[in-house]
Amino acid sequence: MKSVVVAGSFNVDHVWRCDALPAPGATIAGRYSTGPGGKGFNQAVAARRAGAGITFVCALGDDAGGALARQLAAADGIVLAAEASSEPTGTAGIYVDSRGRNSIVIGPGANASLSTGFMAANAALIGAAGVLLAQLESPVESIEAALGIAREAGVLTVLNAAPANAPSTIGLLKLADVLTPNETEFAALLGRHVGERVEADDVAALDGASLHALCRKLSGNTVVVTLGAVGVFVSHDEERLRGDSQPYYRVAAEAAQVVDTTGAGDAFNGALAASLAQAPDAAFIKHVRFANQYAARSTESEGAAAAMPRMTPADAA
Ligand code: ADP
Repeated sequence: MKSVVVAGSFNVDHVWRCDALPAPGATIAGRYSTGPGGKGFNQAVAARRAGAGITFVCALGDDAGGALARQLAAADGIVLAAEASSEPTGTAGIYVDSRGRNSIVIGPGANASLSTGFMAANAALIGAAGVLLAQLESPVESIEAALGIAREAGVLTVLNAAPANAPSTIGLLKLADVLTPNETEFAALLGRHVGERVEADDVAALDGASLHALCRKLSGNTVVVTLGAVGVFVSHDEERLRGDSQPYYRVAAEAAQVVDTTGAGDAFNGALAASLAQAPDAAFIKHVRFANQYAARSTESEGAAAAMPRMTPADAA
C-alpha cells in the first residue's frame, strides 16, 4: 500500500477556555491547556490513525516545541522529514468561549521557513507516495513546489485551501486533483479568484446545480466543500468522475455527540487522504463517506490532534 505525504505546519497550541472571549484591555481567567496543533500535523495524525503510512514534511525550530513534534510523531508512528529552522517552532494562542467560539493568534515561526529547496530535496519521497496532502499554513511557493513534484510523478494531490486568508494563487489551485475548502475558504477563494461574491453562511443553502457551477469556476478538478454540521458537497469535472456515477452530490453529516468541532476539517482531510491511499481504485464517494464518518467521530472529544479517532476504512465499512 502506498503512503500519504503530508506537507505543512506544526504548532504548539496554547489554549485558554474562558466564559467569554477577552475584550480589548480586559484581563480574564481561563482554563489552560497545551498540546500539538497546526493543520499539517493534525491532518498527519488523522491520516495515520485512519490507517495510512505517513511522512510529515514540515519545518521545526531547535527548541522544546520541535522536540515535542518529534516525540508525538514517533508516538503515532509518523515519519518526520523536518527542515531545521533557526526560527522558533510554530505556536498558536487560542481562546475558546463557553459557546465554542474562538479567537486565534498564530506565530508561524519555523513554519514560515519551510523552503522550496527542502521540497526539491524530498522529491523522491513525495514521488513515491500514493497521495500528497497539503494546506496553506506554509509558504505558498513551497506548497506549490510540493504539489508540482507530486503531479509530475503522478501522485494524487489533495489541497486543503485553509486558512481562508492565505495568499493562495489560482496557479496553486490548478495543481490540486482534489481541492477541499470549508464554506469560509470556498467563499474566500471564489471572491479572490473568480470574482464571485458569495457569503460563507449562504453556501450550504445553495442548490446543487448552483454550487456545482461555482466549483467548476474555481477548479477543473474535483472540489469537496465541507459544510460543517450539514456535511459535504462534492463536485467533479464531468470528464473525470473518479468512479462516481454523478458529477455532483451531497453527503449528509453523521450524527455525533459533539463536544468540540476544532480540527473537524483536519480530521476530514486526513481521513480522505488516508482512504484514497489505501484504496485508490474505489469510487470517490466511498472515500468521502469514510472521511465524513471519521470527522464526525473527531468532534466527540476535546482538542484537535488529540481528538483524532483510531478508525480505518475497514473499521467503518
Ligand atoms: P472546518 O473544521 O475546516 O471548519 P467543517 O466545519 O466544514 O470544517 O467540518 C469538516 C467536516 O467535519 C464536515 O464536512 C463534517 O464531515 C464533519 N463535521 C463538522 N461538524 C460536524 C457536526 N456537528 N456533526 C457531524 N459532523 C461534523
